[in-house]
Amino acid sequence: MYEINETHDPSLMSWVESANLPNTDFPIQNLPFCIFGSDAVDDEIHIGVRIGNEVLNLDACADAGLLGEIEDDESIGGERLWGLLDGIMAFSGEGRRALRSRISELLREGSVEQTSLESHLVPAADCLFEDMPAVIGDYTDFYCSIYHATNVGSMFRPDNPLLPNYKYVPIGYHGRASSIVISGTDIKRPKGQNRSEQEAPPVFIPSKSLDYEMELGFFVGRGNELGTSIPISDAEQHIFGVCLVNDWSARDIQAWEYQPLGPFLAKNFATTISPYVVTMDALAPFRTSAFERDPDDPQPLGYLNGEQNQKLGGLDINLEVYIQTEKMRDEKIEPHLLSRSNTKDLYWTIGQMLTHHASNGCNLQTGDLMATGTVSGKEKSERGCLLELTWRGTEPIDLPSGEQRRFLEDGDEIIMKGYCEREGFRRIGLGECRGRILPAD
Ligand code: CA
Repeated sequence: MYEINETHDPSLMSWVESANLPNTDFPIQNLPFCIFGSDAVDDEIHIGVRIGNEVLNLDACADAGLLGEIEDDESIGGERLWGLLDGIMAFSGEGRRALRSRISELLREGSVEQTSLESHLVPAADCLFEDMPAVIGDYTDFYCSIYHATNVGSMFRPDNPLLPNYKYVPIGYHGRASSIVISGTDIKRPKGQNRSEQEAPPVFIPSKSLDYEMELGFFVGRGNELGTSIPISDAEQHIFGVCLVNDWSARDIQAWEYQPLGPFLAKNFATTISPYVVTMDALAPFRTSAFERDPDDPQPLGYLNGEQNQKLGGLDINLEVYIQTEKMRDEKIEPHLLSRSNTKDLYWTIGQMLTHHASNGCNLQTGDLMATGTVSGKEKSERGCLLELTWRGTEPIDLPSGEQRRFLEDGDEIIMKGYCEREGFRRIGLGECRGRILPAD
């Protein structure tokens, strides 16, 4: 899973010209999966692989016999599972790497299959990405940025920002899968109980402090049986790939409801994910060490402490958040950058999150989505939500339109982007995760 091979070679070029543009998110070294539909194909949905400005219809490639033996991967009992990305997610590590190598070969400059493949390419602009990449049975959200946890903690508990469990336990909660939506879906402002008048009873009104949270999501590949756990040394074998996640949050609802059981209606009205799943294989060049703990910090307990995980379990992914208000759209003002952070600043690795999740025997299933929690860094410009950026609304942000924001207003669009860069390798991107706020009913 950390293996760098010929598919990462920075000199590889594709016969799909747009994949060779220097700033594309989708060069031949990336090859992320998606689920798409297009009138240009038929009225079905298909598994695709994004390449430059095109989507390769993988179902059609399989039907045409272009993927060879890979579709009969023994790890899934020879059962043909094309049509559901979950089938590919459940492949063994070897099966996934073989599929990646084959797709890379097919799309490479000079490929003998170019003519047969051309008819299976669809311009991304003609595709609709409206379906989940997988059947997401369960969704879990962690809280793994120590900077985010410290900032938020210090607003609510100035003397004691970080709770005593933080450096031992990857903190998380069970989210809701049914309200996960794909990038581009409008988000209706939720209503809920607000008790900002401390002396008065709560009122039921549209949220006044609607926020986003910039997170990285990851999909479970192979699951584990109920009652078994996943050793930290095997964790990465169970992770298929990553996407961008916006964990929309209603801070006023959250502040009133969160004790003693944690987030509930403040979070489960909507979660937006980007349509592309960038595989762990594509991310191999962008692995880094786990968070370097302060010498006074405890080391992770044994079941969360693996040599490989400490050495390469981190991820160097840059994350950016932009806002464009209705006024900015009307006046043709470009989206405004709110923050830039990086997943290498997370206190826990995704492998530790997954191992911890299964450590009590909880069975994870193929297609389950986990998210890291808001990715914030040390600096103010690296804060991954408005709660932190505006310090609970006390330090509003000035926008180029002359407007100010404490929290999100109706008509605001949040745009998240992610990309990886490392000297000696081709830049790859995660695409975009967008969502616009509609007024409450
Ligand atoms: Ca969150």
